[in-house]
Amino acid sequence: MNPILEIFSQGEEIVTGHTIDTNAAWLAQQAVRQGFCVTRHTAVGDKLADLVTLLQEIAQRADCCICTGGLGPTQDDLTAEAVALAFGLPLQFDPKAFAQIEAFFRLRQRDMPESNRKQALLPKGSVRLNNKRGTAPGFALRYQRCWFVFLPGVPSEMRTMFVKRVLPLLQKQFVLQPSTLISIKTYGLGESAIQQRLNALALPAAVQLGFRADLSEVETKLLFPYAYPQPELTALVAETVGLLGDAVFAVDTQDTPSGSMADVVRQLMADKGLSLSLVETASQGLLASLCVGADWLVAARYEPSLPNWAKQRGLVFDGGDIAGLARQLAGSVPTDNPADWVLVQVYEGSYQQLQDKSQAITVHSVLLADARYHQSVHTVTGNSKRKQSQAALLSLDLLRRVLQFGQYSNPTLETGEVRLSRYGLQLLANPQK
Ligand code: ATP
Ligand code: MG
Repeated sequence: MNPILEIFSQGEEIVTGHTIDTNAAWLAQQAVRQGFCVTRHTAVGDKLADLVTLLQEIAQRADCCICTGGLGPTQDDLTAEAVALAFGLPLQFDPKAFAQIEAFFRLRQRDMPESNRKQALLPKGSVRLNNKRGTAPGFALRYQRCWFVFLPGVPSEMRTMFVKRVLPLLQKQFVLQPSTLISIKTYGLGESAIQQRLNALALPAAVQLGFRADLSEVETKLLFPYAYPQPELTALVAETVGLLGDAVFAVDTQDTPSGSMADVVRQLMADKGLSLSLVETASQGLLASLCVGADWLVAARYEPSLPNWAKQRGLVFDGGDIAGLARQLAGSVPTDNPADWVLVQVYEGSYQQLQDKSQAITVHSVLLADARYHQSVHTVTGNSKRKQSQAALLSLDLLRRVLQFGQYSNPTLETGEVRLSRYGLQLLANPQK
């Protein structure tokens, strides 16, 4: 059985919702990864009696507790005092901690306020955890069955101290048997579609399957227990990936996170040494913003609506030869800085349709890659912001699929051959529908 760990977040601002408890989320992920069984997150405000009670309760039921916040110099920072009361450990002045706090102020050429002296008072018998980024030292101590760790609330200080000081301590204190989490990231398949595909999978009882979904990706998670045989793990992951097909844009382990779909595209473009020009309509540059900072993006052009020569009716293209239009638009990208590939996104429908959240709109994405073009057609819904976000991700996904698989395999796919010359784009063969 993995040791039980609780997370205790301290501060009125957390309880009242003014600060979102990102510390607990981050710490929980770290702890699970190390092989702890995280059973509870509790947040408590700045009432001494509540802090004392909670500390005493946790000492009864957990093997480890990580507490963040309340180590500062102000009156509402009560952690050390609560620990002293809860466990009967008097606070003692720690000259080394005090010297570090003084040095912190000296380096910044500031006088140390008298109130900071309080931060050098640590419960008797605790291990000091040095804080190089701030004034509050942390501390750790055992009380009854539980090993308690107290860290400052400021996330950057807390994270550095956890990695540098706390992890080595925990690894000494506990026999940890971490499980292995594999995360298969997809775009373009909903959770229910994924579930349906995975029904074909014979999942061993020891392996846990889970999902996490948002607009930009679905993560299918496989959690393998400690020491699960590697060949079986590899085979099961490969089978799962196979069932999800080219919707899969990354397979992550805990140690190799690949980031978002946009991050994966950035990496692929850079690895292949390709450059890209973008044209988008009615999206306020959202597609370009997903590529901002990438040096392979050589030109981005945003048309609030289609140029007159291309406009049929209303804001955007309204039926007809959308691929031809996309090619023309692509050809309008400045030719003094030509890119290897061109990505074009246009909406089909009226401005009213884009704005009205009760109506759907069609978005066309066309990628001109080498001598071929690839096109995807999707319907997007919701308010205009949501439609724009979906459209940008769908266009980026077209680029991603062509980069990863050489094609966009979707029933709506059209491909054809084109030639990019200094006169623009020329269609060489009719699209195969
Ligand atoms: P300080 O010396 O800054 O007072 P502290 O240990 O007393 O350090 P708090 O006063 O509890 O920490 O929090 C300092 C700041 O850190 C908060 O204002 C908040 O912005 C951030 N913070 C605190 N707790 C959390 C948390 N659980 N999740 C995210 N941010 C937090
Ligand atoms: Mg504080």
